[in-house]
Amino acid sequence: MATEKSTVTASLPENPMLATALNKLEAAFDALDLNEGIRAFIRHPERELKVSVPIYRADGNIQVFTGYRVQHSSARGPCKGGVRFHPDVDLDEVRALAMLMSIKCAIANVPFGGAKGGVCVDPSELTKVELERLTRRYTHMILPILGKQRDIPAPDMNTNAQTMAWMMDTVSALQSESSTAITTGKPICLGGSEGRAEATGRGVVITMVEALKRLGQDPAKVSVAIQGFGNVGSHAAKIMSAEFKSKVVAVSDDTGGLYNPNGLNLDAICKHVDESPRHRLEGYSAEGTKQISNSELLTLDVDVLVPAAIENQITEKNANDIKAKLIVEGANGPVTHQADKILVDKGVILIPDILANAGGVVTSYFEWVQDLQSFFWNLEDVRSKLTEIMKRAFAEAWDMAQEKNTDLRSASFILAVKRIADAIEQRGLFP
Ligand code: GLU
Repeated sequence: MATEKSTVTASLPENPMLATALNKLEAAFDALDLNEGIRAFIRHPERELKVSVPIYRADGNIQVFTGYRVQHSSARGPCKGGVRFHPDVDLDEVRALAMLMSIKCAIANVPFGGAKGGVCVDPSELTKVELERLTRRYTHMILPILGKQRDIPAPDMNTNAQTMAWMMDTVSALQSESSTAITTGKPICLGGSEGRAEATGRGVVITMVEALKRLGQDPAKVSVAIQGFGNVGSHAAKIMSAEFKSKVVAVSDDTGGLYNPNGLNLDAICKHVDESPRHRLEGYSAEGTKQISNSELLTLDVDVLVPAAIENQITEKNANDIKAKLIVEGANGPVTHQADKILVDKGVILIPDILANAGGVVTSYFEWVQDLQSFFWNLEDVRSKLTEIMKRAFAEAWDMAQEKNTDLRSASFILAVKRIADAIEQRGLFP
């Protein structure tokens, strides 16, 4: 039986996301009374790959970037998870995110394990040609551990359908065959799925509405502030306002925020973002709408807060000032462990990232199934299957929280860890 503690868990790591994930993992182990062998199995990522990614810059010089791919668990199926390009990417962050993917896939009950990849780079400093070179070289470097039944990347922070198209094309070229199922989140013309682009935002809205139902609140009567107006935040804003008549009063991106207590004109804002050169909110103005900072947005007097930007936005410094009674984590890791505790103690209902933003990977699962079968579904099919899975996952997490008298994040971990532990036990160990 494995008794040795991992170096990443001997003391809590500095990376707040990894610390939160490991903390919740330990609590779930205790709640399930798992033996030390299974605990060690789940604590340790199965495989960690660090690669050097050299590319020619436009000036003809070579620059070397560092990339990672971490596969946390393949117990429940092929490893699955995004690839991010960001200057803060490091091994601990990718480890945390890979573990969260295993948990996320288990909560949604899609037949995947968890992985994550990333390159430490500021993509805004690269030209499109340089970005393509970086993506292709990184793909080549991690290809030994990828595979449509092994590990399937998807978009994450600063990566998108174009990135997935380049990755898929690189693998197809190297393997001399069309490998559409090797990535998800691709453009529709290359085996992407209808509804994948909006899926994470739609999932956020579905979980928000399910929570409001249980709290006896009408989605049409709530005010919502959304931090982050990228793929997740902008789709969530549009869907909750158009389909559920929720009042979106504030949105923000890295250029600042907009606030109108009577509700924002989302059509005008989206048009502005589409047409502005950097696709940002900056420069938008309308009567009754004032500029606010990202930190002001978080503490607005609203019913629902959706942090859908980046990690570690709600910390012990601002958690006490949060006024929303419901928080829906569109981003991965927006609330630190310390802040999570403060909010739960205050009675705030927090729908954790691993549940709230699972719509992306659920629709990645649909895309993978469609690619394997070369048979494609229409948008209505995708939306209704996504809704069914998200509602079921939310209900299971909610019921577990009631049963164990705990918060939704802890309950989601318990649910997921149980599924992963069951898979490990049923498979047994090779050799
Ligand atoms: N990057 C997304 C996430 O964190 C999607 C992953 C996927 O579709 O594989 O959930």
